[in-house]
Amino acid sequence: MSTINLLDLDRKGMEAFFVSIGEKPFRATQVLKWLYQEQVTEFEEMTNLSKALRANLKENCCIETPEIITEQIASDGTRKWVIQMGCNNRIETVFIPEEKRGTLCVSSQIGCALACTFCSTAQQGFNRNLSVSEIIGQLYVAQNRLGEEKRITNVVMMGMGEPLLNFDNVVKAMNLMMDDFVYGLSKRRVTLSTSGVVPAMYRLTEACDVSLAVSLHAANDELRNVLVPINQKYPLKELMIACRENVKLAPRRTITFEYVMLNGINDSSADARALIKLLKNIPAKLNLIPFNPFPNSGYHCTPMVTIKRFRDLLQNAGIITTIRKTRGEDIDAACGQLVGKVKDKSRRHLKLHLAES
Ligand code: SAH
Repeated sequence: MSTINLLDLDRKGMEAFFVSIGEKPFRATQVLKWLYQEQVTEFEEMTNLSKALRANLKENCCIETPEIITEQIASDGTRKWVIQMGCNNRIETVFIPEEKRGTLCVSSQIGCALACTFCSTAQQGFNRNLSVSEIIGQLYVAQNRLGEEKRITNVVMMGMGEPLLNFDNVVKAMNLMMDDFVYGLSKRRVTLSTSGVVPAMYRLTEACDVSLAVSLHAANDELRNVLVPINQKYPLKELMIACRENVKLAPRRTITFEYVMLNGINDSSADARALIKLLKNIPAKLNLIPFNPFPNSGYHCTPMVTIKRFRDLLQNAGIITTIRKTRGEDIDAACGQLVGKVKDKSRRHLKLHLAES
């Protein structure tokens, strides 16, 4: 048997593992608790397991977390960590403290294959999917670093990568986040953001009940095809049907639509009207994101007065609309600014990755 990193196993996987070595499934609960709540890293310390089992685990398993390389703290308290993932690759994870909550922005891939034109992660290219331990490990090392004072109360899968193109690992990691013996987060406090991988959106609703955010950015296919190229494969009509289905399965749920404000590109009153039409009859919240610049992007952020006017048009049409407060700007930790260090194998080719979805 090759060495198993216990952080790669969700509850089901861990139960199956214990059964496979002749133990009862409830061992999973005990070990999850040791790992995540007690943060024990030595099998000897897992005192409610028999000596023989501890020896067996020591022989066949390991407890390996990713490693924080650097930490930056912004003037508003936002923290950004660069985290080493194997050799040559680094990703970024961001902690956003607010008065009553602490949100961790978690990455799902090293780089991204989707080539959205306004996102700096896209410029990095794509290297590989993160494993379960590398995803849940971001919570592990972040909480460890934050200590007792600041707790991670919310997770948004809005870091680097497209989470639905790393479906299995992301679902396992999110189920761990919500497990009572791991981080115990409620499903309303775990949000997955997608650029619109439609078939995986249907699968997600069945596999894992979390909140959904959709990166919309344009209300017509012509523009969305350019800004979010995956739209060429899954156009708005299909995307909106998938959103409606998601809401149907979980009544009282609303979907958050993200809309990055790009000066002169998607911010006219005609754009607002098209957006109103698109979001009619769907329980939606709209989150307007001021564009965060990065070198050579070619885009500019819409002036705040125009963003507010845009918001008012939507509000007046009955759509709950907020403007995302930019956080961590002075350390390049804001939306779309995460870069890490991606050893690009130029596997970003859209076709290839769309085929995998
Ligand atoms: N791939 C997923 C997860 C990334 S989420 C998705 O697209 O939803 C990151 C969020 O930040 C998305 O809504 C993305 O569109 C937004 N974003 C990307 N680049 C940005 C930028 N330069 N300024 C502001 N928001 C940006």
